[in-house]
Amino acid sequence: MTTLVLLDHDDDGTPRPAALELVTAARPLGEVHGVWVGDGLDAALPGLADAGVLIVHRLPADVWWPAALAEALHAVRSATGADLVLLASTSEGKEVAAGLAVLDGAAVVTDAERVERVEGALRVTKSVLAGTWVSTVEVTSPVAVVTLEPNAVRAEPAAAPSSPQVVDVQVAVSELARSVTVVRTPRQATGRPDLATADVVVVAGRGVDGHLSPVEELADLLGGAVGATRVVADEGWLPREQQVGQTGVAVAPRLYIGVGVSGAVHHRGGMQSAGTVVAVNSDPDAPIFEFADYGIVGDLFDVLPALTAELRRLRELA
Ligand SMILES: Cc1cc2nc3c(=O)[nH]c(=O)nc-3n(C[C@H](O)[C@H](O)[C@H](O)COP(=O)(O)OP(=O)(O)OC[C@H]3O[C@@H](n4cnc5c(N)ncnc54)[C@H](O)[C@@H]3O)c2cc1C
Repeated sequence: MTTLVLLDHDDDGTPRPAALELVTAARPLGEVHGVWVGDGLDAALPGLADAGVLIVHRLPADVWWPAALAEALHAVRSATGADLVLLASTSEGKEVAAGLAVLDGAAVVTDAERVERVEGALRVTKSVLAGTWVSTVEVTSPVAVVTLEPNAVRAEPAAAPSSPQVVDVQVAVSELARSVTVVRTPRQATGRPDLATADVVVVAGRGVDGHLSPVEELADLLGGAVGATRVVADEGWLPREQQVGQTGVAVAPRLYIGVGVSGAVHHRGGMQSAGTVVAVNSDPDAPIFEFADYGIVGDLFDVLPALTAELRRLRELA
């Protein structure tokens, strides 16, 4: 059994945390092959060896957009006979997964939290219906394409390192895939981690009333990303790309802190896979308290400064 893992990486060749999580999730399922797009692989090889990747299929840099990448992954998957392709559950990962599944005639399961083989069958576990149900999917097709939620698995080194073999792959991308023009607009750097894959996400809700600094200060202290509810994006207090929810970015951090967020079902749909949920809200009956692990009932403009002051004090002691 071979699993192909798409190794997302930064422009400087540093594998994204989600890529190493995918490799960790893939190891118990069989041989792990990575797929690397573009330059920077040489610097990443020691880390991939520690993670136990056996073969890395290197694709040229010019297949980076979803339509081309789906075709390129299809070529690698067919050549290797892999029965599973794992990608990160980001909007781009899911777009590639959909295209690849069509080309491979494969089953596709998105937003997975666990992937395992039980008596030879591939089983995928995921949260559904705004986190109120856990659903287990058994894949019955010969090939499966699965996107795994960032942070669902903790990246860990393999018991024994590998010596990854690098295979350069040339692919001819179809005219159809080339008929798409993708324009990338670099986001203004905030110095904060990427919202979709961040370990910690602090979300501002309507309760902040346009005053973002307490939320940003808390996020920065925790090394986290800042998210917004739709109301906050509608008001223009934060950019639309930072909206978390059913019609925004889906996040799965280890720690989610909702500040002045009511916890509406459309918001919950995008953060239902978060590990620990903390809510700060002045209304004790706010729906977010029904699914929060820790709740602080109080005015955020009192609670957040106290919280950040205490975090700073603890940091100084450490
Ligand atoms: C089709 C559809 C799709 C949607 N998609 C999304 C989506 O992707 N993401 C999303 O977020 N929403 C989405 N929504 C909107 C969603 O239903 C809610 O309206 C929205 O999430 C509410 O945002 P909020 O929690 O900021 O505001 P509110 O619901 O107004 O809650 C504000 C909270 O702040 C608290 N508060 C006020 N002042 C303070 C204070 N000083 N200190 C502490 N707490 C305070 C209040 O008690 C209240 O609970 C969608 C809606 C629809 C219909």
